[in-house]
Amino acid sequence: MNPIVIIGGGPSGMMAAISAKMHHKNYEVILVERGKDLGTKMKLTGGGRCNVTARMPVDEVVEYIPKNGRFLYSTLNSFGPNDIIEFFEKLNCKLKEEDHARMFPVSNKAQDIVDTLKEKIKQLNVKVLLNSYVSDVNVERKEIIINDEYMKYQHLIIATGGITLPATGSDGTGHRLAEKYGHTITKLLPAEVPLVSNDQFIHDKTLQGLSFKDVSLSVWDGKKIKKTITHDLLITHFGLSGPAALRASFYALNLLEEKNEPVKLSIDFLPKVSLGELEQSKTLDDLFRDHNVPKRLVDFCKDTAGKEYLKMLKDFPMTTYATRGFGAAFVTNGGVMVKEVDPKTMQSKMNPYVSFCGEVLDINAFTGGFNITSAFSTGFTAGIHVNLD
Ligand SMILES: Cc1cc2nc3c(=O)[nH]c(=O)nc-3n(C[C@H](O)[C@H](O)[C@H](O)COP(=O)(O)OP(=O)(O)OC[C@H]3O[C@@H](n4cnc5c(N)ncnc54)[C@H](O)[C@@H]3O)c2cc1C
Repeated sequence: MNPIVIIGGGPSGMMAAISAKMHHKNYEVILVERGKDLGTKMKLTGGGRCNVTARMPVDEVVEYIPKNGRFLYSTLNSFGPNDIIEFFEKLNCKLKEEDHARMFPVSNKAQDIVDTLKEKIKQLNVKVLLNSYVSDVNVERKEIIINDEYMKYQHLIIATGGITLPATGSDGTGHRLAEKYGHTITKLLPAEVPLVSNDQFIHDKTLQGLSFKDVSLSVWDGKKIKKTITHDLLITHFGLSGPAALRASFYALNLLEEKNEPVKLSIDFLPKVSLGELEQSKTLDDLFRDHNVPKRLVDFCKDTAGKEYLKMLKDFPMTTYATRGFGAAFVTNGGVMVKEVDPKTMQSKMNPYVSFCGEVLDINAFTGGFNITSAFSTGFTAGIHVNLD
């Protein structure tokens, strides 16, 4: 009996290995990782704290996955946020909820999430091969090459990740292997990435360093708003960063790619207060203080717009002409085309003895725990539905 082999020891591959062994106890399960440890990228996630999921219903989760979220309906329904939370809590890795339903380990250590997965892998007797680079796959012979040696498999799960932060091991090998046996790899673009602007106030660093809680950032397509994101935002020396900018980057980059010209943005620094309320307020300074609107921004708007400065605070215009690129991106937009993968099983439609899970697929989610949720969910499903015929 040849083993079930999983390539890639990130969250999707680790969960796929756990699920494969849990559901197919009599089969040997081998997890192959090129790095010297499992979960190298995962240890860096959430600023070292790992935003492991978001406590919300599946319908809502899908809305936070702008690229091919609907593909995940079925898998999220069989293993979604509540299952992820239960999985870790049962293994004594307690989680806590923060703003925007984000779940983190109580310890605030991503390492604890990785250790919990590693412990489960050990308990289940999954064989782990570290420092083991898979350079090729032959789907006809059901064989892979690891460090120049052949290994037969019964079923292969490709969990090699996207192409962001390649120093952690995810450098796009999985895409190359999938392409080799007929899969389409959609265009790879950086996602969840800060936005660059050449506007004068950015150039002059007038507002550099100001950070905001829950402001509304809109991306415009011509005269229409394409998407409005309400979340935290940071004005930097190059443009915009923080969750609102990262989420907006998906829409801005699509427009930049399509139109090849700067994209218009606007910021509402007081989304909970209408312009009418602002104009009638007799205690504007208090209102600004209560809504964390810094004096530096108010002064800038007064200097720029004069009497219209309140309007400017509600509809602050700017543009972006680029993103900070793969070097600063959290995830990859693009990957194995989801039409070529069965959403109920994660099996390749080109070859039933191969499956995909995690970021190697053409799925990208907003920051906030949704990418790891997608990795765990697809990994769990891929592990159940291995082909043992
Ligand atoms: C700085 C940063 C912070 C992030 N924070 C969060 C967060 O808090 N919450 C969240 O939901 N998402 C977060 N993300 C995104 C999240 O980390 C990824 O979406 C997730 O790790 C993808 O999991 P994966 O298992 O598909 O791929 P990866 O985690 O990239 O793992 C793939 C693994 O495959 C191995 N591999 C690749 N090719 C081969 C090969 N040929 N042979 C053997 N092994 C191979 C790699 O070494 C790697 O270990 C963050 C990303 C970054 C960059």
